[in-house]
Amino acid sequence: MTCKNRAKNCGGCPLLEVPYPEQLKQKEAKVRALLGKYGPVHPIRGMETPTHYRNKVISTFAMGFGGKLVSGIYATKTHKVLPVERCLLEDEVLDTVMEAVRAAAAACKYQPYHEDKGTGLLRHCLLRRGVATGQVMVVLVTAQPVLPGAKNFVRALLAEAEKRSVPVTTVVQNYNPRRTSVVLGEQEKVLYGKGFILDTLCGKTYALSPRSFYQVNPVQTAVLYGLAVDAAKLTGNEVVLDAYCGIGTIGLTAADKAKQVVGVELNRDAVHDAIGNAKHNGVKNARFFAADATEWISTAAAAGERADVIFMDPPREGSTPQFIESVARMAPKRVVYVSCNPETMARDLALLTKKGYHAEGFTPVDMFPNSEHIEVVCALSRQEQRKQSRR
Ligand code: SAH
Repeated sequence: MTCKNRAKNCGGCPLLEVPYPEQLKQKEAKVRALLGKYGPVHPIRGMETPTHYRNKVISTFAMGFGGKLVSGIYATKTHKVLPVERCLLEDEVLDTVMEAVRAAAAACKYQPYHEDKGTGLLRHCLLRRGVATGQVMVVLVTAQPVLPGAKNFVRALLAEAEKRSVPVTTVVQNYNPRRTSVVLGEQEKVLYGKGFILDTLCGKTYALSPRSFYQVNPVQTAVLYGLAVDAAKLTGNEVVLDAYCGIGTIGLTAADKAKQVVGVELNRDAVHDAIGNAKHNGVKNARFFAADATEWISTAAAAGERADVIFMDPPREGSTPQFIESVARMAPKRVVYVSCNPETMARDLALLTKKGYHAEGFTPVDMFPNSEHIEVVCALSRQEQRKQSRR
């Protein structure tokens, strides 16, 4: 595949020149090399169409030639904005919405923020699309607390979006005065709509606000969660722990097939969303706690609490030895490990297998085609139990 942004030093697709079937082969081989000694590696689950999968876009504003307002991404290893109008990874509807945002902002004579001088108004625009519902959120990140003529901006944006036949469901202003590369600031003001959008994933509906963590490839997330929930082999009687649960998506997907779901997550906003998501979906058997997963599970295991199935989906650094020790103490029949980093997964697997868990198999899922990332689902079962059931 080719992309004209590539020639301009865009680093978004490091594998772009590698044909997609070859990318999949390479990723599967990497997983096999790292994890194959623990159990069989099943064929990688790739995308039918490995482009335009990102449901979230962050575009940074800058001044282009002739004073034109442009937006795009930072060129590789620089803080120079590379104007992007079309991107192979981004949802095409969102690229069109971004065009409407630029047109409306230019009509309102908004100036881009200048990073070095600290002058100007517009820093970034974050866009999100609920692919199942079609709803679109526009978050305009400003360096000033007030967006002058905000009503006119919204009116212009809705008109520009309509002209291009794309929806805008809600518009939020986010104020970020800090000199940092973190995109969102703390203060928000809803300019239009409800300030959140809805999306449906694996039969559950999620409310997404500007800050909510949400997987960016909805097609492959459904594949990933499907594999994870199948690997749990739930019958309806299990107590399930969803560790590192984010906004509760894996636990809520599993809740209909479990007796009880307990989710643990460090990020308080995500836990708040998870509780709301359970409520809005009428899920009554799920509870969520804001805590460090290791601390939480250590306390729970020491208090004699038990789980029948544990899902664990830690960040790139993986889990901790103490977390795994506590998993072993809780003695679940099954552990389903979802990883975004096969290297730390391999490290954690060494301890999990030592603690008596047998890896039944690994399925790599290509969540991020054209990038080097790989996601892996691993089903583990408790070995003593396997021996017993063989008798
Ligand atoms: N299962 C979720 C989120 C996975 S990403 C999903 O599929 O969407 C990993 C999550 O782990 C993030 O939400 C992150 O905030 C959380 N996390 C990171 N460190 C943690 C810790 N020490 N304890 C609990 N959660 C943690």
